[in-house]
Amino acid sequence: MLFLDPTYMIFMIPAFLIMVIAQTYVNSAYKKWSRVMARSRLTGAQVAQRLISAGGLNVEVEGVRGKLSDHYDPRKKVLFLSEGVYSSPSVAALAITAHELGHAMQDRDGYFPLRIRAALVPAVNIGSYLGWILIFIGLLLRMTELAWLGVLVFSGGAIFALATLPVELNASRRAKALLTDTGMIVGEDEKSGVNRVLNAAALTYVAGLITAVMQLLYFVSLVGGMGGRRR
Ligand SMILES: [Zn+2]
Repeated sequence: MLFLDPTYMIFMIPAFLIMVIAQTYVNSAYKKWSRVMARSRLTGAQVAQRLISAGGLNVEVEGVRGKLSDHYDPRKKVLFLSEGVYSSPSVAALAITAHELGHAMQDRDGYFPLRIRAALVPAVNIGSYLGWILIFIGLLLRMTELAWLGVLVFSGGAIFALATLPVELNASRRAKALLTDTGMIVGEDEKSGVNRVLNAAALTYVAGLITAVMQLLYFVSLVGGMGGRRR
């Protein structure tokens, strides 16, 4: 029903296009820079070990299946590196490793936006379903207040996407400094490769925020229009 609504299309098509562009940009940056080997010749796992000791972090390094499935788990204090990163000495692999360790440093420092984001996770998981249900029932039964409550609950997703931005940009900033300060990345070409990969990744989070905001705006217009028609 919702996907046949032309208004929904008007709201979501620009967001969808931005998402596709961001994904294409990430894939091409990753593809290009995973073929360029860093002069240090150290693999993602080796660089992780060096950066962990240089930064005095208490983090284990493990491999994980999949492509670009790299992540830092703050509960286990484990850095998971994907197959293409763990044993690769490419510029892309080093950029991704350092970015994930940036998250480990945020965790150690109790970085405030990271804590906000972590606190929002359960609310967002429930809110995305509950919001839909409340909006749907509110529209169906013409209960404006209930529908607005649904919009409010649903807005948690947009707040989460907003909180994600500083967390990701800060992790990339830490990553760039880590790699150059420790000499893992040398020369302007390697630096620009690291920048390309990390900036492309940042763009996907911007696209995610735009999508979440557009979805929220659609519901605002839908529920707002409902009140207008009644008068
Ligand atoms: Zn990240």
